[in-house]
Amino acid sequence: MAPIAKSDEYDFLVIGGGSGGLGAARRAASKYGQKVAIIEKSGRLGGTCVNVGCVPKKICWNAASIAETLHDAAGYGFKVVQKEAFDWYSFKHKRDAYIKRLNGIYERNLNKDNVEYISAHASLVSKNEVVLKAIDGSEESKTIKAKKILVTTGGYPMIPTQIPGAELGISSDGFFDLETLPKKVAVVGAGYIAVEFAGIFNALGTETHLFIRGETFLRKFDPMIQDVLTDHYSKLGIHIHKNSKAFKNVEKTSSGSLMLHSEGDEAPLEVDVLLWAIGRAPQVDGLGLDKIGVKTDANGLIQVDEFQNTSVENVYALGDVCGKVELTPVAIAAGRRLADRLFGPLEFSARKLVYENIPSVVFAHPEVGTIGLTEPQAREKYGDASLKIYKASFIAMYYAMLENKGPTSYKLICVGPEERVVGLHILGLGSAEMLQGFGVAIKMGATKADFDNCVAIHPTSAEELVTMT
Ligand SMILES: Cc1cc2nc3c(=O)[nH]c(=O)nc-3n(C[C@H](O)[C@H](O)[C@H](O)COP(=O)(O)OP(=O)(O)OC[C@H]3O[C@@H](n4cnc5c(N)ncnc54)[C@H](O)[C@@H]3O)c2cc1C
Repeated sequence: MAPIAKSDEYDFLVIGGGSGGLGAARRAASKYGQKVAIIEKSGRLGGTCVNVGCVPKKICWNAASIAETLHDAAGYGFKVVQKEAFDWYSFKHKRDAYIKRLNGIYERNLNKDNVEYISAHASLVSKNEVVLKAIDGSEESKTIKAKKILVTTGGYPMIPTQIPGAELGISSDGFFDLETLPKKVAVVGAGYIAVEFAGIFNALGTETHLFIRGETFLRKFDPMIQDVLTDHYSKLGIHIHKNSKAFKNVEKTSSGSLMLHSEGDEAPLEVDVLLWAIGRAPQVDGLGLDKIGVKTDANGLIQVDEFQNTSVENVYALGDVCGKVELTPVAIAAGRRLADRLFGPLEFSARKLVYENIPSVVFAHPEVGTIGLTEPQAREKYGDASLKIYKASFIAMYYAMLENKGPTSYKLICVGPEERVVGLHILGLGSAEMLQGFGVAIKMGATKADFDNCVAIHPTSAEELVTMT
């Protein structure tokens, strides 16, 4: 374990060793030679993404995709017989070992870049001072000073504690601790995390119940994505409990299963695991923000301007703790730009992350990719008359040999006489990898004509995006 701090004073102190903190700290030290320390309270570097987010989630999605491919193999003439059930236990421990290796790589990278890693809990006591408390159970604490302080403490998954027995369920963090694959699970939530976990469970053979408040999930996504994917998840065999009311209570049965009692007229449901995926809250407790006057909103999110300045001079914040666009590359990009602005040459003094046209994907079954405005947002911003919407829905060639077909649906939203693309929404196999390149084009201001001028790659699904009429 790292000592509580080697020095008493630093140029740049970063609280939170996750995506955004690491991005900012490494840039400030490696590129601009600042004396930098990063403080992490969990004892492992990488934050949510590496430990309980993107990385272990994607590994689970890969496993789920392999399960689907094994299932599809027969359609292509392979006589694959799965002799034993999927070995979740070995898979889980191998995945954990990989994450542990990543934690080590992150620590070595900090060393290489000359960033001091302080394993401690941090709280602010003034705009230039932070108190460190040891996390090894000792009473050790130390106050250190810094010219500039960055808060990147991320968020945590919420549990609806007002529901009696809610704590019997797990959150997305708890998903990664499951030692056995449950036979029957209830996932509550309609955001991308709920949709991803429901898809993983279902593909791996768990009877999956997804509780959503409305008719569709992914409510912030384009309606096409909501409708097509909600419908397809039902076809895949996921039990979607639409317009679901909150649970009245959750009880543990004598066999250890959980009984979910709805506020509405739904019959009680018995499951092995209940997973809450109802949203995340900023991790600001015990951080001392109020003591030094850093402003937060009603949900506790730190308020920052477009340059990541908080209400207190020399104290900055970014990433999930500000809640703007809660994605790893967003936090990293904001962190690097902030370091450029604070410590780089004069021409970087206006550097900031533009939170527009940020591509994002949902590792659903099949995947979803989205960038820019949804159709309702575009209609509101530009008016119906300025918009031209292109759509394509088809069966990808992969399914030609299969009985059960998955959907592929694409939408391009264009504005004005030049038909500038202001929204692109894709659902289908390969969408996650496909989106990155289209993201570059849209960020550069591509028009429909630019899309059309790019010769198609055949036979792919992506070619439909450059041949839409
Ligand atoms: C299940 C799940 C799946 C996800 N999948 C994706 C995905 O596929 N793609 C994607 O881009 N994003 C994904 N995300 C979101 C992504 O993980 C976050 O947006 C990203 O990690 C935010 O980075 P951050 O630096 O703001 O915070 P974090 O990465 O959460 O880091 C904050 C760190 O601060 C530490 N900390 C907190 N308080 C203190 C304190 N007082 N003292 C010291 N340390 C402290 C915490 O322990 C933590 O390590 C996913 C998230 C979840 C939960």
